[in-house]
Amino acid sequence: MELLEIQGVQIPVLGLGTWAMRGSGCTRAILQALDLGYRHIDTAQMYGNENAVGNGLTQTSVPREEIFLTTKIYQSNLQYDNVLTSVRQSLQDLQTEYVDLLLIHWPSRSVPIPETIEAMNELQDAGAVKHIGVSNFSVSQMREAMEASGMPIITNQVQYHPFKEQQSVLEFCSENSILLTAYSPLAKGRVVRDNTLEDIGARYGKSAAQVALRWLIQQKNVSAIPKAANEAHLRENLDIFDFELSPEDIQQILDLQGGLIDRMRSLFRI
Ligand code: NAP
Repeated sequence: MELLEIQGVQIPVLGLGTWAMRGSGCTRAILQALDLGYRHIDTAQMYGNENAVGNGLTQTSVPREEIFLTTKIYQSNLQYDNVLTSVRQSLQDLQTEYVDLLLIHWPSRSVPIPETIEAMNELQDAGAVKHIGVSNFSVSQMREAMEASGMPIITNQVQYHPFKEQQSVLEFCSENSILLTAYSPLAKGRVVRDNTLEDIGARYGKSAAQVALRWLIQQKNVSAIPKAANEAHLRENLDIFDFELSPEDIQQILDLQGGLIDRMRSLFRI
């Protein structure tokens, strides 16, 4: 698994999303994914599956320290005290002493960002959380989080795929050495029906889904967390490290977003 280094933190470039996975099916997918070589798992308090994910973490033979585990604080838990108690509960459910990354799931309309960040920093001091970040934040909200935090904000997890541009967040992340973690990287499965992605994939013996994921991770500060409950999908999504999209392929995919190539080119590893 390729690693990205973000502000000194090593993060596997491809992770497993777990939204909508529940119970034993979720645990099975975690175990299969870890067997196949996934080392990055994304969950959230909101998903109601932290316990099922934790069962996978305790049943696997992969050592805990080799797994990069992310969870996210639910929107109603963003007040200082609720952050502390809800994250302690998450750790209990996940059956682990720490998470590698804790995110604010969505910005709150009522709780100021610094209040939440203060509690997250405290959890870092206590060793319960290694790194922190945000999700669904605009550039100005990212700035506010960075100013409030005594520790680096290492990621903003946002929706990003070939049909969804994220230029301003990408540029800000790139300028500030922040990871953009792409959620719904397969556009919830829609990419598989796209002719352009299919045609590009045919040149490499790859599927449209693999092209979409490759397009994301070929960007310097981007990781992707596709969700796959199906074992064939888990395997397919991991099989993207033996080919490289050309500048022409990248241009074609950017055309799906309205042709942003000139400003975007510097953000790609091409
Ligand atoms: P996604 O990863 O874009 O798409 C998942 C769908 O694609 C599932 O139906 C899956 O089917 C299918 N799929 C997976 N691999 C495939 C392949 N190789 N070929 C064809 N179909 C394939 O959507 P997502 O679940 O919305 O996003 C991924 C993760 O991002 C979530 O699970 C969650 O962890 C995170 N997320 C975060 C936020 C946030 O607010 N921070 C919001 C949404 C999502 P099977 O499951 O049947 O394999």
